[in-house]
Amino acid sequence: MKISDVLSSRPITVSCEVFPPKTDGALDSVLTTVRKIAKLSPDFISVTYGAGGGTSQNTLRIVSHIQQELHTTALAHLSCVSSTKEEIFSILQEMRQKKIENILALRGDIPAGTAFPSPGQYQYAYQLVEQIKAFGGFCIGAACYPEGHVESASKEEDLVHLKQKVDCGCDFLTTQLFFDNSVLYSFLYRALAKNIEVPILAGIMPAVNGKQIARMCALSGASLPSRFKAIVDKFGDDPRSMKQAGIAYATEQIIDLIANGIHAIHIYTMNKPDVAASILHNLSHIVGKSDWEHIKQ
Ligand code: FAD
Repeated sequence: MKISDVLSSRPITVSCEVFPPKTDGALDSVLTTVRKIAKLSPDFISVTYGAGGGTSQNTLRIVSHIQQELHTTALAHLSCVSSTKEEIFSILQEMRQKKIENILALRGDIPAGTAFPSPGQYQYAYQLVEQIKAFGGFCIGAACYPEGHVESASKEEDLVHLKQKVDCGCDFLTTQLFFDNSVLYSFLYRALAKNIEVPILAGIMPAVNGKQIARMCALSGASLPSRFKAIVDKFGDDPRSMKQAGIAYATEQIIDLIANGIHAIHIYTMNKPDVAASILHNLSHIVGKSDWEHIKQ
């Protein structure tokens, strides 16, 4: 099913993201994780694309498995920064052959120490969106950044580029993680003022590992509100307490988003089915999925 149809046919959607293994040897263990997440009945599962494209085959394998074996809608991430147009064309052909319908079109991070952009290669994600649109048949998503992309001089400039990307053929957007909902609300107002009218999925990262939080914020540019910083300061060195606090914080963030009219939540599971299970259990009646009440945590 196309993500655009999933979003338009359900009042609230909650989807999950997983990432592929870096080596083929670890594929079975990631597939086990994916099966556990699919059992939770999220509205769809997205599968990230390894930086540089090195694990692209694992992304396609996992997406096919989710669709064919687990009968769940899947979204394949695809980044272009390290590929030629011909390479992307052949990946699109393979996706079509595998009946993959949904792509999150990304530029990817610029690989350190390389000349960027190489002549004839991609510079920005909108070029990939254009190519996928011209290829035809896919529902296309893209990334957006409520706090501005780290390379952008300003949030305003980033929004201008986002508008260009959407106009090239995006059907929906997914946000970078954020810990302060007011950041998202302000972004949504500014996006609307730029006539960006496609559905925007709110990306929520349950921060359950104290040691990873500083790194995550540095990579994503997400700011830490003082309420959350106090939690990390207090529990960051105690894994079990941090896990409980991170799940509670993410749950509260999602409840506030839904209470304020947000329809689509995307959970960055970090391949932790138990964390996803706890959050979905907490949301069972809130999102009208009473079977989530029986999820074992
Ligand atoms: P773009 O939309 O091209 O934007 C990149 C920068 O260029 C921005 O600063 C933008 O303002 C600027 N820009 C865009 N167009 C123009 C223009 N015409 N002129 C001048 N400047 C311009 N990375 C992965 O490797 N694999 C993944 O699976 C993955 N999944 C992600 C999922 C989500 C939801 C998000 C938010 C990010 C994900 N990323 C992933 C990270 C992403 O690849 C990086 O953030 C990357 O640096 C930017 O990718 P983009 O597609 O947003 O790029």
